[in-house]
Amino acid sequence: MSQEFSDRGVHDPRPSSPVVPVKLTLDSTIQFQCRKGIACFNKCCESIDIMLTPYDVLRLKTRLGMSSQEFLARHTTLFDMDAHGMPGLKMKTREGSTACQFLTPEGCGVYEDRPAACRYYALGLTSMRAVGSPNEEDFYFVVKEEHCLGHFEPRTLTVREYRAEQGVDLYDEMTRQWRQIVLKKRSSGPTVGRPTDRSFDLFFQASYDLDGFRGFVTSEGFVETYDVDPALMQKLGSDDVELMKFAFRFLKQALFGENTIPVRPDALEKRMQRRQRRLDAMRAAARTELEAEADRPDEN
Ligand code: SF4
Ligand code: SF4
Repeated sequence: MSQEFSDRGVHDPRPSSPVVPVKLTLDSTIQFQCRKGIACFNKCCESIDIMLTPYDVLRLKTRLGMSSQEFLARHTTLFDMDAHGMPGLKMKTREGSTACQFLTPEGCGVYEDRPAACRYYALGLTSMRAVGSPNEEDFYFVVKEEHCLGHFEPRTLTVREYRAEQGVDLYDEMTRQWRQIVLKKRSSGPTVGRPTDRSFDLFFQASYDLDGFRGFVTSEGFVETYDVDPALMQKLGSDDVELMKFAFRFLKQALFGENTIPVRPDALEKRMQRRQRRLDAMRAAARTELEAEADRPDEN
């Protein structure tokens, strides 16, 4: 079943787009096959514009045996996801080229861990929330680029079958919560005003820098503030997927005030004590420095 967006027979003055303007559902049929040996092999990876999700980063940094900070520095570039500057990530291309860094003559060098956008191609996904509805609805469309000959291959299958073949379901499941957070943050609109830099920093760390977020979650300040089940706390120390899911819970609390992680009753008192300890340590350091200064022989 499909729904046409455009009026047939009416001249459209807009520049042509590779998006086929037909709304597809999971049971819609598409004609497509990408395979080794096809004349356009690797063409799509020679000019990329790929947005990365938190789960993409997790899979790629694990595959490459890097920390999240190293992966972010070597393989990504920042972009603004909205007019307020919500930080998004894109895959970095090769120096002086538009090609993907992971492209090899034999195909994708990270195939089993390629990002969701690569798995989706030549399908697109978009989510929308109808006015008054709490849930957004996913729908699909075909992207037909001139260089891609996969659309002429004699194979038909449903969107559902294509998603299963490409392993998209797991990727979507892993980032569903995050996409909802992004959508909610973006749709809060100008009436709420620009979020603070601190909230964007938190969003960036919890979304993309899992190793940095692990340091935050295991810090004295976090442990004394939030009441997290000890068994879960232990998992967060070593399980990246659990940590990513926890990061989404944390974001809902930090950005929207949802009560997703219980706060300890004595959190405020503990915070005051930590501040007092920090202040005492600073005063002691300043005193030691002054005493050392006073004991130093006069140079004049
Ligand atoms: S990650 Fe792999 S599939 Fe995706 S653009 Fe790069 S080479 Fe192509
Ligand atoms: S068929 Fe399309 S997706 Fe496959 S290699 Fe060719 S251009 Fe890329």
